[in-house]
Amino acid sequence: AYNFCAGPATLPEAVLRQAQEEMLDWRGTGMSVMEMSHRSDDFVAIAEAAEQDLRQLAGISDDYAVLFMQGGASSQFSTIPLNLLGDKGSADYVNTGIWSKKAIAEASRYADVNVVASAEANGFTSIPDQAVWQTGADAAYLHYTPNETIGGLEFDFVPDSGDVPLVADMSSTMLSRPLDVSKFGLIYAGAQKNIGPSGLVVVIIRKDLLGKARRETPTMMNYQVIADNGSMYNTPATYSWYLAGLVFKWLKAQGGVEAMAKINDRKARKLYDFIDGNDFYANPIEPRFRSWMNVPFTLAEDALNSEFLKGADARGLLNLKGHRSVGGMRASIYNAMPEAGVDALIDYMAEFAEEQA
Ligand code: PLP
Repeated sequence: AYNFCAGPATLPEAVLRQAQEEMLDWRGTGMSVMEMSHRSDDFVAIAEAAEQDLRQLAGISDDYAVLFMQGGASSQFSTIPLNLLGDKGSADYVNTGIWSKKAIAEASRYADVNVVASAEANGFTSIPDQAVWQTGADAAYLHYTPNETIGGLEFDFVPDSGDVPLVADMSSTMLSRPLDVSKFGLIYAGAQKNIGPSGLVVVIIRKDLLGKARRETPTMMNYQVIADNGSMYNTPATYSWYLAGLVFKWLKAQGGVEAMAKINDRKARKLYDFIDGNDFYANPIEPRFRSWMNVPFTLAEDALNSEFLKGADARGLLNLKGHRSVGGMRASIYNAMPEAGVDALIDYMAEFAEEQA
């Protein structure tokens, strides 16, 4: 089967097989990784290797701390303002869809949120040119969502935030292609797409931004505390961390993010080209802002949605139903989705459209 779920998403089969092999007895210890103390030498080695592999894959310098936190990406929506506002009262946010809006709503509890640009007026099909953004005079940071997982709208540029730290929710685009980390103050990504199991969230933060948390910040949300304790202030999500480490090793073996970018570009291009070339299907996003990872599409008639999904299921093409807020279909084609999965989807879509003609 090919699982097109947006998250938790398909993981590389080789990773799952290795996890299965090691499940009951990790390298002769007689224990599952799940049963190990997080302070044991074995687990600390697993955790450190994962961090080093991620640093290598994403090109993360020593100027940045890498944190393996809990609570998913959503908990970062409040963790970020609590830590980064400092003595400033406002923060800049770009609104490109549902995840941006959630981040804005949460930050509004702590700060005056200045929405510098919004794609709402164009129905979230295009990203306003940065020349027209209205940045705040005294913002603590600029937050944006490089890839909107639900709408399938993705930035094809990194915003210039000037002297203000740039903060990015990379949940559904992290590791899909090379990235210049040095342009960012903070990057965060919920793991359940390109990294591993849900619950874990990876935070990459420039070290000079540590130590600015507001007094009322819960200890578990204080980046400085988490960094000082190697992400082990409390018991971390050990098994998720281990699985993320296996995914990073797998990515390195594939040739890293440069190699993934080539494959991802090809997979996305194939699917969009097919959609554009077939009258029965449509994707509303301006081509340059189409997501590489999440491809929403509609059928000519909504009434055919359930029949389409039934036929897809029967072929092992799973979880193609679009998000409940937008309807239609969505194919999430993260790193772990083989190109053959995209080919199988296109074959089915072609056949289904022909049957309706
Ligand atoms: N941000 C983006 C872009 C997402 O796609 C998601 C989840 O799918 C989230 C945030 C929320 O992540 P979590 O469920 O880990 O809190």
